[in-house]
Amino acid sequence: MIRLLDDVTINKIAAGEVVEAPYSIVKELIENAIDAEAKSITLEIKEGGKKLIRITDDGLGIPEDEVEMAFQRHATSKINSLEDLSNTLSLGFRGEALASIAAVSQIEMITRPKTQSVGVAIEVAGGVITNKKSIGCPSGTTIMVKNLFYNTPARLKFLKSIQGETGKISEIITRLALSRPDISFKYINNNNIMFTTPGNNDLSQVILSVFQQDWFKSMLKVDEADDDIKVYGYIGQPNLYRGNRSYEIVFVNGRFIKSKLIYHTLERLYRDRIPINKFPVCVLNINIEPTYIDVNVHPSKTEIKFHDEEAISNYLTITLDKWLSKRVTIAKLEGIS
Ligand code: ADP
Ligand code: MG
Repeated sequence: MIRLLDDVTINKIAAGEVVEAPYSIVKELIENAIDAEAKSITLEIKEGGKKLIRITDDGLGIPEDEVEMAFQRHATSKINSLEDLSNTLSLGFRGEALASIAAVSQIEMITRPKTQSVGVAIEVAGGVITNKKSIGCPSGTTIMVKNLFYNTPARLKFLKSIQGETGKISEIITRLALSRPDISFKYINNNNIMFTTPGNNDLSQVILSVFQQDWFKSMLKVDEADDDIKVYGYIGQPNLYRGNRSYEIVFVNGRFIKSKLIYHTLERLYRDRIPINKFPVCVLNINIEPTYIDVNVHPSKTEIKFHDEEAISNYLTITLDKWLSKRVTIAKLEGIS
């Protein structure tokens, strides 16, 4: 017999796509905080996020009469139509994250917009709202995700070890903090503060805060702006290299991306400067006219396609080569040694 699935079941199935593991929840929820114009975001996890993920922001909050809506599938405040999509600067727009996360965990959310004097606390378990009440709280939003996959044991089994899941979360929050030096991030793992970034729009201070190793002080500044492209950030001196690509961190128009073209360009530039089979280090922002690129609209995708690959590659090579020889280090900029 053919029949329509109920909403709880639909959301549980859809959750498979959005909620792969604790790190994907962290990414979605922090992006929500960023979209809500937060200036300060705290992430706290316990047991690799399997037991607890708590995110507190000082952003816009959700009005009392919209809180239930936020947990419905395809409910978003960010776009009205597909036409809006090309103009949207927000990170989310599909209205799927909260519904999906709520379907496979136990959520408690406390939220208050500045314009309302009292906030609201709501509890959702397995996609069903179990409690809602008024509460006094600071403006902004705190969302707590507990016991991920408690109602889908098959998926729980597929999660990595606590250490493995913690590693993926650390990677995500590091990228997000590096992409937004204007926001203060605090990351707490099992009651230990892993890092705090100042939120003063100084990327070099974010680099020192998140990596916490002296050798990043020798990274070199890059800051180049032309008509339709801007490249800025920090790149390693030739004495700075790693055994893999994980420190080749590139953002295009504010989004973390993985691009073979850019990796190869960087690696060619450093080929005669660092040992064979080693990889350069960078935190590089490329801001480019959106019509020059194709971004996959699926939010979890990090691929990107440049229309004129040769032009980008040549421009990067010339620009980075120039700033490599200028040798302006973070240490010099920050007046530290
Ligand atoms: P999307 O981000 O794609 O709109 P979500 O399911 O992630 O969908 O969130 C649904 C809606 O809930 C958002 O459009 C926003 O209005 C609201 N929301 C979620 N998180 C926050 C937050 N931290 N602060 C303010 N509003 C939020
Ligand atoms: Mg979202």
